[in-house]
Amino acid sequence: MAERRNDPVVVIGLGRFGSSLALELVRQGTEVLAIDHRPKVVQAMAGQLTHIATADSTDIEALRQLGVPEFRRAVVAIGSDIEASILTTSLLVELEIEDIWAKAISRQHGRILERIGATHVVLPEHDMGERVAHLVSGRMLDYIAVDEHFALAKTRPPKELVGIPLGDTGLRRKHGVTVVSVKSEGEEFTYATPDTVLQYGDLIIIAGATDKVERFTELL
Ligand code: ADP
Repeated sequence: MAERRNDPVVVIGLGRFGSSLALELVRQGTEVLAIDHRPKVVQAMAGQLTHIATADSTDIEALRQLGVPEFRRAVVAIGSDIEASILTTSLLVELEIEDIWAKAISRQHGRILERIGATHVVLPEHDMGERVAHLVSGRMLDYIAVDEHFALAKTRPPKELVGIPLGDTGLRRKHGVTVVSVKSEGEEFTYATPDTVLQYGDLIIIAGATDKVERFTELL
């Protein structure tokens, strides 16, 4: 598992998404080969990424010359040029890259990428839009959809949870959510237990079905 985590990664497309992703992988200690067809982009990032090349990723010979077939993991971070995104992904499938992460700019684009063999499809703008929709209500301070129907949210405790041990609140039975972590003012987040007593001003992380999490934060 640890070995797999440190497997080098090819990142194709150094737009906003691809460049942030490549830099974060390097920061985590993962070796990255970054590819973009715009020489200016490659030049600008050459100081921060040691393995970086100017190449057209829709050209299988260029990918072979760069040693892409040796990699087990790749990210196709090309969004707006859907044709290049699809062609690049299909070439990585042809080169038998085991783990192919591909960025899509729409659900249809994502479905095509899945159909041609991308193992993971991400829709960063879509996902962020949904996430921010939960935040603008002001009741959630953070929100992560873990699955289609399950979410985690950072919020404040409603009145009915304050001052009594969590185990006595009947929270899960009444509202279908669980408090998983708590942060008191000036302290770090810690696990919640049935004995945890929440105070006004605490931050909590709750987990549960998406509709239950949404309804729970309406108690605030
Ligand atoms: P973002 O929204 O993350 O900025 P873009 O889709 O705008 O994403 O950027 C994608 C990047 O991929 C650009 O830097 C672009 O030069 C690069 N790119 C597009 N097509 C190819 C290709 N065929 N080969 C290599 N790089 C490509």
